[in-house]
Amino acid sequence: MPTMANSHFKQPNGTVSNNDSRRQKLLQQRKSLPIATVEKRLVEEIRNNHILIIVGETGSGKTTQLPQYLFKAGFCHDGKLVGVTQPRRVAAVTVAKRVAEECGVQLGQRVGYSVRFDDMTSGSTRIKYMTDGLLLREALLDPYLSKYSVIVVDEAHERTVHTDVLLALLKSVQKARSQTANELVGRENSSNDANLEKGKEAQTTGPLKKGQGAKFPPLRLVIMSASLDAQIFSEYFGGAKAVHVQGRQFPVDIFYTLHAETDYVEAAMVTIFQIHSEEAPGDILVFLTGQEEIESVEGLVRDKLPQLPEGNRNIVTVPIYASLPSEQQMKAFMPAPAGFRKVILATNIAETSVTIPGIKYVVDPGVVKARNYNPRTGIESLNVIPTSKAQALQRSGRAGREGAGKCFRLYTEREFEKLADSTVPEIKRCNLSNVILQLKALGVDDIIGFDFMEKPSRMAIVKSLEELFLLGALTEDYKLSDPIGKQMARLPLDPIYSKALILSSQFNCLEEMLIAVAMLSVESIFFTPREKQEEARTAIKRFSSTEGDHITLINVYRSCDEFLESGNANNSKDKIFKNMKKWCKDNFVNGRSLRHARDVHSQIRRHVEQMGLRIASCGEDMILFRRCLAASFFLNAALRQPDGTYRALASSQIVQIHPTSVLFRAKPDCIVFNELVRTNQNYIRDVTRIDPMWLTELAPHFYARQD
Ligand code: ADP
Ligand code: MG
Repeated sequence: MPTMANSHFKQPNGTVSNNDSRRQKLLQQRKSLPIATVEKRLVEEIRNNHILIIVGETGSGKTTQLPQYLFKAGFCHDGKLVGVTQPRRVAAVTVAKRVAEECGVQLGQRVGYSVRFDDMTSGSTRIKYMTDGLLLREALLDPYLSKYSVIVVDEAHERTVHTDVLLALLKSVQKARSQTANELVGRENSSNDANLEKGKEAQTTGPLKKGQGAKFPPLRLVIMSASLDAQIFSEYFGGAKAVHVQGRQFPVDIFYTLHAETDYVEAAMVTIFQIHSEEAPGDILVFLTGQEEIESVEGLVRDKLPQLPEGNRNIVTVPIYASLPSEQQMKAFMPAPAGFRKVILATNIAETSVTIPGIKYVVDPGVVKARNYNPRTGIESLNVIPTSKAQALQRSGRAGREGAGKCFRLYTEREFEKLADSTVPEIKRCNLSNVILQLKALGVDDIIGFDFMEKPSRMAIVKSLEELFLLGALTEDYKLSDPIGKQMARLPLDPIYSKALILSSQFNCLEEMLIAVAMLSVESIFFTPREKQEEARTAIKRFSSTEGDHITLINVYRSCDEFLESGNANNSKDKIFKNMKKWCKDNFVNGRSLRHARDVHSQIRRHVEQMGLRIASCGEDMILFRRCLAASFFLNAALRQPDGTYRALASSQIVQIHPTSVLFRAKPDCIVFNELVRTNQNYIRDVTRIDPMWLTELAPHFYARQD
């Protein structure tokens, strides 16, 4: 359907705008932002306070403007950087692009971004947007974060696990950088994790050495939040000063459904068309939970369009979500072609992290995908859960940025009343192995006694320590093991994936594991349009392996590689891109996901090369690969029950193979799986058949011959 194609959007005129009127317009826009009236005051406050908390409504200009003010005020002299962290990569990327444009510089020069698997900075970068997770990784190499004069922790209200850990880390770095040799430095421990179990002597470790930090100029911290409750941050930083930036908000009418919706994806589609036919011009922002859902709504809208009266088809959809390639993310910000209504299909990144101009209508199904962790079973799952009231409010607020707006909540008013007031910080509902591994690598020995803003449960910490020990990353007294633990901490992946890569070099199948890990790092490789289910199934069968989803994913990746290598040698990049797109379409493969996976693949490959791991292929002998999966994913093994469900061995939970798995029907006796997704059932996804004997053979420390 041509009206749906993204090609309808004008391409941006490059990052450097030589168009004077465009510059003028941008300048005008900047000046009219609420934050512009308090520029001087904010800069003064940051000069005078080493820690400042800035609270301001979404869209007031915090993220895009403050770093520019700091640059202008001289905080980057001596080549120092202003670092701005974001919980989400999309925000880091799109905001950096916007700010580069506002500054009239090429992206990657004065203004740049750095996110996992994508670095757009150079030696001349002074304003650096990045994810909070990335800054944590930087601290591994530069414990004093010595490059930075100011670090702005943005979107702190989101309380992602990385933000929380980062705040704790910054607190100690700041202390270290403002202290002299005689004073004590943060991160000193009175005990460590091993003591809590065994009552050993306390040890003091950590890369922050007494007095060392004083070599660097003091570090200034700015914490920015859209939530009105600055108290919690202020208290954590010893009564730090908070300032409020007044926002601008127009009234938003809220509408609820009369009855609960059974299928909110369908309901979202219906609401989009209702708005389109009944309401005044203005763009629509729809909140969905992930790429799959976004693509399904894209499909539904596309299918429905031809049924509309001729004059009513002027509608375009644009997706925006984390794993979308960055050049495509910017499309959400471009105006729709004249006479068209733009429908932005977004995950909750559009809740506070990015502000897209032109939104007048918000469609809010009231759900969000969130991590959930059960420390008793040690199982982390991704669940679609109701939003909090605070989130619902944020979402509706997006409709009132430029004028009065409307928000359509796809649930009843009674359901709204039942929502929790605010979201539980992620650190209390996720598996902590990843952050604990990083903290250990940073020299934090005592996780239980660590100065978290909000402490995760002791049980969650102990369970994650145990898991890291079982994976070989920690020694018996919970110290980072050498080399496994150190290598694992270096890889920007979940510990279990890192372990799989490290092991696979011993199993002679690192080639295969690299592909598997890359493919598992992206969302939904296959796509099945509703109207072509049968065709899609046949196409996907060509890649299917009876051994399971991991090998199936490898087959897809390799088939695409073969296709690109054959007959594309003399083609231009553009042509290859087009060919790949067609190949994906013909094979019902999600082109966006596959491109992303190829990108991730080349990045992780570089990491393992640098680490000196031996890259080899097991060729046809996929048993080696499956054995390696068993050896690394042993905590995610499950046995078939007489009724066809599975019992996860580590947690004794009853789970089922997801219908999209190639093993859904075959139901082998013993499997390992990649993740657990909880909807109305406990579904396991990405499943591979293994021999149960391998578990006792390859993970004897865990399966010591019990059953
Ligand atoms: P805050 O951080 O306070 O929520 P931002 O600095 O993100 O505010 O946004 C300030 C303004 O800049 C918003 O009104 C938004 O519309 C505009 N803006 C931000 N990014 C872009 C972009 N990529 N394209 C166009 N406008 C943008
Ligand atoms: Mg912001």
